Amino acid sequence: MIKRTEAIVLKNKPFADADLIVTYLTRKYGLINVHAKSPKKIKSRFGSSLEPLTYSNISFFGKEDASLPRLIQSDIINPFQPLREDFSSLTKIYEMLKLCLTFLPEREPAEEVFILLLNTLLKIGANSDSKIFRLYYKIRFLDIAGLLPSLDICGRCGTPPDTNRRHYLFYIADGSIICNNCAKNERNPFILSKGSLNFFGSILRWNHSSVDRIKAPEKLISELLELINSHINYIIGSKFVPKL
Ligand SMILES: [Zn+2]
Repeated sequence: MIKRTEAIVLKNKPFADADLIVTYLTRKYGLINVHAKSPKKIKSRFGSSLEPLTYSNISFFGKEDASLPRLIQSDIINPFQPLREDFSSLTKIYEMLKLCLTFLPEREPAEEVFILLLNTLLKIGANSDSKIFRLYYKIRFLDIAGLLPSLDICGRCGTPPDTNRRHYLFYIADGSIICNNCAKNERNPFILSKGSLNFFGSILRWNHSSVDRIKAPEKLISELLELINSHINYIIGSKFVPKL
């Protein structure tokens, strides 16, 4: 049975002599691996359409339970060439792709994540400063995956943050802010400013069209991005991979 969908290449790896296994995030089928037969021999455009970040219309063939469907067509919609050629942004973009590769189960539709990734790549491609879009992507992804850090109540006693304070204590191992009572004698918190705490709440209320209209201070964006990156690294390091 032939299936067709829009898809973004997350990664590829060599397979057999001249073949590739391509991992896609697709609009209809979520994360899938497909077998691309002799991509270099067929024609160059097919081969180049299998590079990471490439956004294409693809067709693949395989029985429902086939472990590795065969890729039979791939027509590029947007190669995101400038993003692939800019090494300074590429590492940061791979961090975004890694979230999909780590947390999305195979063959379970995840259209919301597909749209999030596609819109983020389009925004980053059109703007010189990508920080706010990367931050938005990561927070939205964690939200969809049920992995958001908890910044609205103390992770141990459930008390809401004291609004008179200017800073709050976030503990990576708790994935949460912890109130002063509960955090007595504990060391090495991540100090989170009140501005960042409020900014986090705002981001959760935004949608894509509003991201590039909001001017947020660089300091808040950097602070939250650092916290979110630490949170993600901790989750990946602890090998806790929940089901969406
Ligand atoms: Zn507490």
